Amino acid sequence: MSKLPTVAIIGRPNTGKSTLFNRVVGSRRAIESEVAGTTRDLISHRIDDAEVPYILLDTGGIGSTADKDFESDVKGQSLLALEHADLILFTVNSREVITLDDQKVVEMLRKRKKKHVPILVVLTKVDDPSIAASVISDFQEMNVGEEIMTVSAPHRIGIDTMNKAIAVHLKKLGFLPVTVAMDPDLKTAPRIAIIGRPNVGKSSIVNAMMSETQREELPLLVSPVAGTTRDSTDTEVKFSGRTYVLVDTAGLKRRPQDLEDIERFSLMRTIQAIEQCDIVVLVLDALVQVSQQDKRIASMAVESGKGLIILANKIDGIKGDARKQRLHEILVLLSFCKFAPIIPCSAVSREGLLKLFDVVDSVQRNRSRRITTRDLHRWFEQVVHGQPLGEIGKCKHLLQADDLPPTFVLFVKDAKRVNVTQLRYLENRLRETFGFSGVPIRWVTKSTPKKESKMKVK
Ligand code: GDP
Repeated sequence: MSKLPTVAIIGRPNTGKSTLFNRVVGSRRAIESEVAGTTRDLISHRIDDAEVPYILLDTGGIGSTADKDFESDVKGQSLLALEHADLILFTVNSREVITLDDQKVVEMLRKRKKKHVPILVVLTKVDDPSIAASVISDFQEMNVGEEIMTVSAPHRIGIDTMNKAIAVHLKKLGFLPVTVAMDPDLKTAPRIAIIGRPNVGKSSIVNAMMSETQREELPLLVSPVAGTTRDSTDTEVKFSGRTYVLVDTAGLKRRPQDLEDIERFSLMRTIQAIEQCDIVVLVLDALVQVSQQDKRIASMAVESGKGLIILANKIDGIKGDARKQRLHEILVLLSFCKFAPIIPCSAVSREGLLKLFDVVDSVQRNRSRRITTRDLHRWFEQVVHGQPLGEIGKCKHLLQADDLPPTFVLFVKDAKRVNVTQLRYLENRLRETFGFSGVPIRWVTKSTPKKESKMKVK
């Protein structure tokens, strides 16, 4: 498969970026938990059922979740969007006069925008279009953007028109509405994104897999996946008769001109690669301590709900006890992704690279595993019953939803009383029994109406 286009929402704070993002993502979003604090704030989402599928990106969200310094940094947002977006949705609050920050965004777009990238100016919060007339004429005067459109995200006004305009512009850019029929092997092949901060050895790992000279030793046959649109960035890997796709391998080689942008560039590349994969392979440099940036990237992978495998690369540089100690350190510092297998590896000595494929297979299987309601009830009865688990102890029914990542739905008396600690306990027990290595698990709690008769968990 080829690269999906990226549509970035940019605009100063309080212009309705997140509301617009949530409206477009809408029902595509997985069922949400009623437990406070467990609902994720997404910053990117694949819009697969659009006329032309794309990745929608809320650049404001990047600021608030990934890097506090970006929060009101209009420049940062714009640069991200300008470097990587194929189309820009520029949000402007129709209920306020144009501010200095709006103008800063406009200035940035003028200076840095790539010529071919279209801008749709989206006037938000327009419940009554007549009110927006003066802002529209201001923008027409400024001559920014291919089109100016008005939306009211909460009321769904203007969203269809905007969606159509997005499809029209993406098609003009050469992105195709339908994916051309694919080789069945490729359709089912696990899609792997190799991510991590700069210099941890991502491209060396991919190169090691692709190296001609070593092919006999490491029987991988690698070829670029035939692109259906202009920009094919995936690489097909065959190993032991099985097919894998490494997504966005071009992103591993491309480097921004401006050194200042390296961090932003790798952040964007990470988001795009995660969205397009089934399994994230997070590469760490085992020679140095796990950094804040490693943790940030790891948490993006966990949030995404994709499978996760951690590669402790450059392990050739550490021997004996020091090696054991470093692996333990990784485990402790990345305890929030302790469900992910850690593989010591080296792009130089090739240690661990073969193992990666077996682990990928097992994580891929785990992603689609389904536990029957009967088995879940039995497990609950044996493991959880009688534990001091508050509301969860009073669970009336539980099942695995038909969702990715594996999602378990608990029916309790009052979902608001379930807390994260209780859910964590439940998850640990569930993993002890059913495994799910390499796969994040989501919990959804539902209140059962009072009148409903209690369902016996058996
Ligand atoms: P990327 O930015 O994550 O793609 O990192 P690169 O693949 O460009 O590697 C960064 C540096 O680490 C290069 O100098 C590599 O030679 C070195 N490197 C990569 N993998 C290994 C490894 O397994 N062992 C050792 N000793 N060095 C490595």
